Amino acid sequence: MKIFKVGDSQKAICEHCRSLENATFKLRDVPFSDGSGLVKNVLVGVCDKCDQVSTLPHQSMPVVKKRLEAQRKPIESRLPAHMVDILNLATMELGGSTDFVPNLVKYYIHAMATDEKSAKNIAQFLNSDLAKGKAEKRLSLKGRQIHSDIETLKLMSNITNTTDLIKSVILRINDDVLLKKEPESTRQLKNIMASIG
Ligand SMILES: [Zn+2]
Repeated sequence: MKIFKVGDSQKAICEHCRSLENATFKLRDVPFSDGSGLVKNVLVGVCDKCDQVSTLPHQSMPVVKKRLEAQRKPIESRLPAHMVDILNLATMELGGSTDFVPNLVKYYIHAMATDEKSAKNIAQFLNSDLAKGKAEKRLSLKGRQIHSDIETLKLMSNITNTTDLIKSVILRINDDVLLKKEPESTRQLKNIMASIG
């Protein structure tokens, strides 16, 4: 793979000019084609003839990818108030602050999405009395992994609705952390919590 420096040049097809033109590599702010965002200060090939971006070098892909991922909307769910209380209590039990709540949920979703055995039986939690209640609080989950983890876990658990999936994960956390107290997963979580202070 060739690494380009600012000021290097290369022939590139310019879509704007519809011809092969010389492109010079420069740092530019580049908007996404759908206008939904902007990648700032990224190395691109700029057409010498029309001054439009004509090529995106391979070395700029990681930055663009990161920006695209950051754009993805968080997973939002509306939950009964007591479900958020369960999460707050669980993080306290594990030695963390309530700021850790979204990470705790994401940790569980990821762990279960990679463990077929534990994923299979979470749907049962939806039958419990704690699964009921008016949805009055909001939980927002952000991150690179969360979308694909949720899709995987839906398939594994046979729960099609995202909010139902989040509810069953929370009730699983309730079971592990608040009711059973000291299973293996709780010990691991305490270590993570201690390490991030
Ligand atoms: Zn051009």
